[in-house]
Amino acid sequence: MKFSQASNVLLLAGLANSCLLPEERAGGHIRRSLNRRQGNNGKAIGKGDRFNGGSSFPRGIGSGNATDMSTILNVNEVTTGLQGLVNAYGIQTFVTPYKTYEGRTITGAKIGGSGTANTNYHVYLNGAIHARERGSHDSVLYFISDLLYAQKHGTGLTYGKKSYTNADVTKALSTGIVVTPLINPDGVNYDQTSNSCWRKNRNPKSSSSGDPDTIGVDLNRNFDFAWDLKKWASSVASEVASTDPSSEVFHGTAAFSEPETQAVKYILDTYTKVRWFIDLHSYAGDVLYSWGSDTDQSTQPYKNFLNSTYDSIRGITSDSTSSKYGEYISSEDLNNVQTAGNRFGNVMSTAAGRKYTVMQSAYLYPTSGASDDYAFSRHIADPTKNKVYSYTIEFGFGNNQASCPFYPTAAQYTSSLQETNAGFMEFLLAAADIGLE
Ligand SMILES: [Zn+2]
Repeated sequence: MKFSQASNVLLLAGLANSCLLPEERAGGHIRRSLNRRQGNNGKAIGKGDRFNGGSSFPRGIGSGNATDMSTILNVNEVTTGLQGLVNAYGIQTFVTPYKTYEGRTITGAKIGGSGTANTNYHVYLNGAIHARERGSHDSVLYFISDLLYAQKHGTGLTYGKKSYTNADVTKALSTGIVVTPLINPDGVNYDQTSNSCWRKNRNPKSSSSGDPDTIGVDLNRNFDFAWDLKKWASSVASEVASTDPSSEVFHGTAAFSEPETQAVKYILDTYTKVRWFIDLHSYAGDVLYSWGSDTDQSTQPYKNFLNSTYDSIRGITSDSTSSKYGEYISSEDLNNVQTAGNRFGNVMSTAAGRKYTVMQSAYLYPTSGASDDYAFSRHIADPTKNKVYSYTIEFGFGNNQASCPFYPTAAQYTSSLQETNAGFMEFLLAAADIGLE
């Protein structure tokens, strides 16, 4: 078994699914599976524009499910849906200053908070960084739609077996929320139009001789956190990311080589008081907290991703961290990320009756250049930057009947929407309770 260095039994539970397909982890080279599976494509992708250019607005399942949800939102509908929210509620949207390889822009929105200054926003939710993880951008867009509807109409929100009051909605909105529902529009457009189980973006600059499987960068290996594979033990360096453009975890030509990851950095640089961050993925039924590099430890601050002394042993989660290497996180920070993670993980389990596991990211599998580790590492790499408590959610449990297991059935889509949206609510409430400053 490839990740046999890990002793934690939770890792074994995570191996069967999650974000990467089993065949993509096999043999040391995380390479695209060229043979597509037999099966259907799950819930269909929407055609046209259900928001009519923004003249109608999205409304999620928590506030009464008024929007036609018979299909998954296409790329354009994320933009028109946000425009609908602008028209209906007067919210502010923005476009990040980088165009994707195919010339698309990335639209974000900001809601709640105590004012419109950038420093009033303390939470950031990001969706659809991995193209095939269908339901991710829907979850983020419908969630903010629910918050805005409930605020305007003085109602609460209900997600499956979990309900929230209007006071909860007010408290959740008080945190100040920035969202980018769809950070990888080129990849999602390609996946939705080809049903190819596409994970990466569509940047072909590293592609060799026209091989279509060498297109794209894994955006969630492109962030500036131990991006250089020299930072990792040789036994794990080929697993945490890859320098091979044909790999599903190809990490690009440099940290932040891609406009999509630059957009995430731009948001964290612009909204300088963001304290809490979720990057929304599928599938594994996991809530993952920092770190994703190696086993957490709170006693030896000098053992951290900046210290090159430990480059040769970083990423081996089975070693004893007292004598070897574990990634430093203060006991207070660890307590905070676990407390909030357990709170919203439990709620995700309640919403649709499917069990979510809350655990450290590294126990799924060690990764370099991931968004959550980058966000939490910023204040350590540069003490002038804000501390950002960060999570990866792997919603859903896969669809083995589909051509791509990331493509949900209609029932799975609904369950996942209940879980992510209830989880977001509880996450915001936990953030407000633990602290926004
Ligand atoms: Zn993913």
